[in-house]
Amino acid sequence: MSDSNVTISPLGNASRAELKKLCQALWDWRYCSRCNDGEPCQMSKCPWQRSDKLEPFFDFYRKVTAWHIAEVPGGGEYALRGHDDLFSIVRLIKQKSDVPRSILTEEFFSQYDRKPNMAEQHRAFDLAVRIMSMLNCSIGDQSLNRLELGLDLTIWANDKTYREFIENAFSFKAPPILHENGLLSEIEARLNAIQLKKVAKIKFQGTDDLKNHLKLDTDTGILQLFHHVTFLREHLLATQDKIPGSAVVQRVILPRQLALETHDSLEILFPSGHDSVQLLRSLASQKSLDFDYPAFGRMEYRREDESEAVYCYWGHRLFELYEELKEPRPRGIFHWVQERTKKRHFMMLTIAGVLFAVLSLAVSVFSAWVSYQQWKHPVNNSNP
Ligand SMILES: [Zn+2]
Repeated sequence: MSDSNVTISPLGNASRAELKKLCQALWDWRYCSRCNDGEPCQMSKCPWQRSDKLEPFFDFYRKVTAWHIAEVPGGGEYALRGHDDLFSIVRLIKQKSDVPRSILTEEFFSQYDRKPNMAEQHRAFDLAVRIMSMLNCSIGDQSLNRLELGLDLTIWANDKTYREFIENAFSFKAPPILHENGLLSEIEARLNAIQLKKVAKIKFQGTDDLKNHLKLDTDTGILQLFHHVTFLREHLLATQDKIPGSAVVQRVILPRQLALETHDSLEILFPSGHDSVQLLRSLASQKSLDFDYPAFGRMEYRREDESEAVYCYWGHRLFELYEELKEPRPRGIFHWVQERTKKRHFMMLTIAGVLFAVLSLAVSVFSAWVSYQQWKHPVNNSNP
């Protein structure tokens, strides 16, 4: 690479044309002729007409790609020379989701005249997966820096396929207890964001990491919610007409059931027409999150056989939230006072313990001194 070609961030500033290619790589979007010619889209059926709602996802894409900086700029061949390389990796992983990572990596970089080093190759695949699956991916042996940054990484090992990676990241369980004895109806009737806030003192936070959806930090009371709702919906639209088990569905990015559940679980916490909706709107506007609430409840992304919500992935987390609502752990000002009282108690016990030890020592020294004095100056009781 000549010095004139050296750039610190080869993926900076994704253009509209590159974002169009991103959607094509992820969801096989087919554009109208004007879009293909680089002119403004005017056809209502063209998928690019939906792109406005994807702005939060595009922002996310711009952010994670702009931060993808070569460890040694100009120090060798870049693994990602531009956005097109990233899209090619996304397509390769989709097409060969049953091929181990090491073979895909070898296949992709064999086209390069000069191969980038292995660490750069792995980082390129991790970034492609970050975009496709919304998971912080790592191969697991070269991510010390990222671990130091406190990132919650999901490991895609060299000998595992993309399908195995996704299966390991999310625990799928046959419909659990939520679907027994009318528990789901009970949860749908009682569990909502306002109740969680009022009764259990829970606060809500948007997350870009799908694995953290509905994850409750029981100490802080913060509940994370995956907020790229339009991303989920596009995934559902892209896989809507596919027949389960067909060759086409093999190329999925995420399990359709997972996307459906994530979407449906938000509707449990923020039911249409409920005061909770205002809470969600407020959260979305403060932090520029994509919950796209007005479009909730629309059915066009569901298949006919998906009219009922089923919870195979998030059922256990919904159940835990419901349990939290029934028996909330102490939080808020009461918890603060309780914690301080406990600490003060502990401090007083510690001081009392130290005083007791010092006093015991003093008594022991005094006893020893008395004994010594008695030995040295024995009292003579005999009469002269
Ligand atoms: Zn168009």
